[in-house]
Amino acid sequence: MRITVSVSIQADDDSPAVADDVFTCERTSPLSPDTVGLHLDEAKALLSGVQETMVAEQAKAALAGNAVCLSCGAARRHKDARQIVVRTLFGVVRLSSPRWWQCGCTTHAHATVSPLAAMLPERATPELVYVETKFAALAAYGASARLLTELLPLGRTLHATAIRFHAQAVARRLEDELGAEQAGFIDTCPAQWEELPRPDLPLVVGLDGGYVHSSQQRSRKDGWFEVIAGKVVPAEGKPTCFGYVQTYDTKPKRRLYEALRAHGMQDNQQVTFLTDGGEDIRDLPLYLNPQSEHLLDWFHITMRITVMANMAKSLRPPPPDNDIGDDTPRLDPATEVSEQLERLKWFLWHGNVFRALQTITDITMDVEIAHEGSEQARMAKAIGEFDSYLRANAERIPNYSERRRAGEAISTAFTESAVNQVISKRMVKKQQMRWTPRGAHLLLQVRTRVLNDQLAGDFHRWHPGFTHRPPELEQPAAAA
Ligand SMILES: [Zn+2]
Repeated sequence: MRITVSVSIQADDDSPAVADDVFTCERTSPLSPDTVGLHLDEAKALLSGVQETMVAEQAKAALAGNAVCLSCGAARRHKDARQIVVRTLFGVVRLSSPRWWQCGCTTHAHATVSPLAAMLPERATPELVYVETKFAALAAYGASARLLTELLPLGRTLHATAIRFHAQAVARRLEDELGAEQAGFIDTCPAQWEELPRPDLPLVVGLDGGYVHSSQQRSRKDGWFEVIAGKVVPAEGKPTCFGYVQTYDTKPKRRLYEALRAHGMQDNQQVTFLTDGGEDIRDLPLYLNPQSEHLLDWFHITMRITVMANMAKSLRPPPPDNDIGDDTPRLDPATEVSEQLERLKWFLWHGNVFRALQTITDITMDVEIAHEGSEQARMAKAIGEFDSYLRANAERIPNYSERRRAGEAISTAFTESAVNQVISKRMVKKQQMRWTPRGAHLLLQVRTRVLNDQLAGDFHRWHPGFTHRPPELEQPAAAA
């Protein structure tokens, strides 16, 4: 059988409908799974055929509507024409864009007018840019380019650099929309807060740092740079995330403030920051909100203890001291240290930093008597670092047990850590992924908009005719 698809276009005026055969294909019997329905190549040809016909007719109608002088109705005289190219999801469309002389009945700033070029100023449709950006936010630029080229009749081979260019342009536009940086954002005083409505329960913000490979490596030391990921968790509703590269970003406070405002933060609302206590993010909460408290995220404490517990397993008892005929059984340092680490965790869970530090001293001694070797040295180093970590963050360690009983936040990692969701999955999955601080920062802007289901809304704001599914209908993005 022979299948022909034709497109019929009926203009708004009463002119006769235009019909155009855009696609044909053939099928021979018998029917089989590989001949049922359209093949991908055929579907792509069909779509691009429809697109070409549709755009040509739209351009024709648009030009017809502009062919006469708006003041006197006289036909505009043709000067010349040039070709304009519009990239769409369903092919590269080439249109002849005529240049017409302005009518002499009035004076004009320009002697000529090019209506089509004026109506189509951008060389790519918003939907193409949207789809490219959305994929780039979730998968590597190269993989996104190959996938889109495979599935859509783009009419050209899409390259990773083109996707990156579009995604970065979207990110820059988002960055331009972000207001100016300020020293502080809350300029009301406690007396004024009294008059505000009773705020919602505290907003919880998880702030976390992760590292990505640098493409500007000059020495071993600068092979990595830090990226900050944050997650705002409201008492009710969906958490949102944000991210930035500290060495590149010029407005981290504004970014955080806007992320909180998006959850309806009031000036008198309490904000709880849960972090890993890192030096560089420690200050950020301070100037943001006077009502904020800053605590160590319980998740990070348990992670560090778990890492040490794994190290402890490889500790071995020292050899028996034969010189003094000592054959009494030795305590096994692996068991000893594991038990002490459990106690350490328990003290921290109850906010007892004093007893936690004493326990670290005990562990340090247990590790010292273990069999010397690389395992023992590693364990000694880790417990020493944990000691400094607790001392530096002592005032940020609350009684987690009590907080939990009171229903207060102790961790933002109950769903997924911000750094894993925002950074790791897209930016450090492969060792060969290398970033400039600017490239990483811009990608983070579109990635977080996609993870938050906000990107379609941004495109609606910029392009009211953008017909992608409204954001409220978007499926939560699978951040795989
Ligand atoms: Zn005129």
